[in-house]
Amino acid sequence: MLASMSNLDRTPTLTRCGGLADVAPQPVAEVFTGREVLLGEATNVRRLLPNLGRRMVGPWCFTDHYGPDDIADAAGMQVPPHPHIGLQTVSWLLEGEVRHRDSLGSDQVLTPGTLGLMTSGHGISHAEHSPVAHPRLLHGVQLWVALPDGARSTSPSWEFHGSLPAFSDARMAATVIMGELGGERSPGTAHSPIVGADVTLEAGADVSIPIEREFEHGVLMMSGTANVVGTELNVGSMLYLGCGRRQLRFRCASGARLLLLGGEPFGEQIVMWWNFVARSDEEIAEAREQWIARSARFGDVHGAGQRLEAPPMPPGRLIPGGPAR
Ligand code: MN
Repeated sequence: MLASMSNLDRTPTLTRCGGLADVAPQPVAEVFTGREVLLGEATNVRRLLPNLGRRMVGPWCFTDHYGPDDIADAAGMQVPPHPHIGLQTVSWLLEGEVRHRDSLGSDQVLTPGTLGLMTSGHGISHAEHSPVAHPRLLHGVQLWVALPDGARSTSPSWEFHGSLPAFSDARMAATVIMGELGGERSPGTAHSPIVGADVTLEAGADVSIPIEREFEHGVLMMSGTANVVGTELNVGSMLYLGCGRRQLRFRCASGARLLLLGGEPFGEQIVMWWNFVARSDEEIAEAREQWIARSARFGDVHGAGQRLEAPPMPPGRLIPGGPAR
């Protein structure tokens, strides 16, 4: 079973991040590799964020890279209904198809080049499945964007964008997934200054892309190998670049495809656990209890199978009205 579009971990850890303490205000070049995370029954994804040394890049707080996997003789992605609060999910495919259904009644098949953008606000639930008849390969990224305080209590919403703005240079083509880059702006709704772009480099590319100096940036190599600001980056690895750069230089000998992530450093402290982004342990515990109680906060995803059960809270956490356990 491939189950990578959500945190299906049965013993998720609680991550405290955000705030400016971890932000490099000047340019740096820190390479780190994704942790192999077993999700569902038999699927490995590479989790780049959060990582031991790096929790966020701008408002981006969760990054899974999966595939390319041959699912010709498999069910493919099978993620049952599960809840979210306090975040946006950004679904981006390089190969294959994923059917998204949510508690708003949305039902949309995502394909390469299309953007699925779900804003949980106060609460939503969704499910993601490979269509029964699906292409052989599945390759993509699943990303979360932390919502700032001013946007995390809003009503949930779902956006589908069938095409996104793009720009090109010699042996380089870029698609703007979120925010603005190269003079092009994504139609995806953003709640804090952000950028996300898919960059394809052909063999022999040597290009520089202007970026926001005030933003924090990172680059995930999704396929191939390239030199990014002087650092060799291989598939599955991420390069954290800090802030203070005006441009990024990419050189590539044999072709590559990478994901550029960035944004204004996220100044608010957040608490992440399972599929929730909140501000306190109490908020997390409350959302978990409401999911278990089938609260209207998360609605229902009709026809998408049994709901995912919430894992137990880790020991030593505060629960509302109760002692630490
Ligand atoms: Mn999800």
